[in-house]
Amino acid sequence: MKAHDGMYIGGVWRPALGAGTIAVVDPADEQVIAHVPAGSPEDVDAAVVAARDAFPGWAATAPADRAARIAALRDVLAARKDEVAATVTAELGAPPRLAEAVHAGLPVLVAGSYAELAASYAFEETVGNSTVLHEPVGVVGAITPWNYPLHQIVAKVAPALAAGCTVVLKPAEDTPLTARLFAEAVHESGLPGGVFNLVTGLGPVAGQALAEHPGVDLVSFTGSTAVGRRIGATAGGAVKRVALELGGKSANVILPGADLPRAVNAGIANVMSNSGQTCSAWTRMLVHRDRYEEAVALAAEAAAKYVPGDRLGPLVSARQRDRVRGYIEQGVAEGARLVAGGPEAPRETGYYVSPTVFADVTPDMTIAQEEIFGPVVSLMRYEDEDDALRIANGTVYGLAGAVWGERDEAVAFARRMDTGQVDINGGRFNPLAPFGGYKQSGVGRELGTHGLAEYLHTKSLQF
Ligand code: NAD
Repeated sequence: MKAHDGMYIGGVWRPALGAGTIAVVDPADEQVIAHVPAGSPEDVDAAVVAARDAFPGWAATAPADRAARIAALRDVLAARKDEVAATVTAELGAPPRLAEAVHAGLPVLVAGSYAELAASYAFEETVGNSTVLHEPVGVVGAITPWNYPLHQIVAKVAPALAAGCTVVLKPAEDTPLTARLFAEAVHESGLPGGVFNLVTGLGPVAGQALAEHPGVDLVSFTGSTAVGRRIGATAGGAVKRVALELGGKSANVILPGADLPRAVNAGIANVMSNSGQTCSAWTRMLVHRDRYEEAVALAAEAAAKYVPGDRLGPLVSARQRDRVRGYIEQGVAEGARLVAGGPEAPRETGYYVSPTVFADVTPDMTIAQEEIFGPVVSLMRYEDEDDALRIANGTVYGLAGAVWGERDEAVAFARRMDTGQVDINGGRFNPLAPFGGYKQSGVGRELGTHGLAEYLHTKSLQF
């Protein structure tokens, strides 16, 4: 077990100003693997002051020089990929293959995309007789969740740096070790002191202090809708910019013309990946009534291949495990048909939940409406396309989704969905495509040029 000290502020590791610590637990064996300092409002204040001091210099740095710094950061993250993967496995429980390919690999891709965009983005443009300037917003307060510990950090920090903003990061309390590794990478990459600062700590203490700090110009938050709503209200009260990436309850719509086994297998794989702890996971599978029982059998068979402790990792914490099991019990109580998995613990130690598939789920059930954030899929039956659309759009969320079928029909259906991103017949991940929510799934977009624009003000000069 390792006791870490210090916060990364102003380019150095400084002793924390408060005395509290946070225990980091390996969810696969429930052992405490490290302690990190629990930041106080004074730590947050020191970090914001450092970020404010660094802002004018960083904002004035030529975009090509900012691009070179971000490229250097990408190179350090790439060089330390194995360490990132091992850290994510230790504190999140991600199976090694997923940790390497996604948790360590994706941030390198995203950082690389912003190294390129920082150099190529039109920070000035001519509109008629005006010059429009796109200027950095200022100091960014970034608050991130634990589900993709490094990706969530890079998806905020890289565009903020590309824009010319400086950053204070408050990462999730469950996964602070990956955040510390990121701060080390920032240091190694030679970014000027104060441009990026890290304060580990509890949400209601350090997170709230950051969101409320008058020296923060923009709060970028990813996490639960409940906390996002509070942060939005706080930012609104201060007339401060805010970006919110919140929960989801995405629909996987399998149209009659689809390759059913392919669509069902991909749908199960999508939810089981990262043990269902993905905000965009396709947790509701919608199948036409004529092929419904066939889909149920295929889904149960596919889910059974995700053996807990092998392909399926644990959930991040005992709290999340209990929450997910509670939803499974509620699904049974409300009359859904359990065809795979269930609430029983599949292993003696570790926060594991069995891969679970429910059939006969109706739109009024809790498991069809609320974000479960675990390896649980709900199969829902529809009568025709209008019925499928009503079900797909019938939640408060609108983050992502999928449509399978003949291409034109699938695209026509996707256009009618109230959601920020739709994969057609299994679409490939694109790090330049904007990601974010309709309805209560959020405000603003991440990734690509849309993600960069979140961190910019616009100013018009008339001639
Ligand atoms: P959370 O919203 O409580 O935590 C996310 C981040 O916000 C963490 O860094 C946390 O410390 C911070 N935070 C918490 N309270 C805060 C406050 N009052 N002010 C400022 N910051 C605060 O999420 P959670 O409890 O870790 O997970 C609960 C649920 O959230 C999950 O079950 C899931 O439904 C959802 N979730 C969504 C995502 C996503 O990517 N959209 C990620 C993680 C969790």
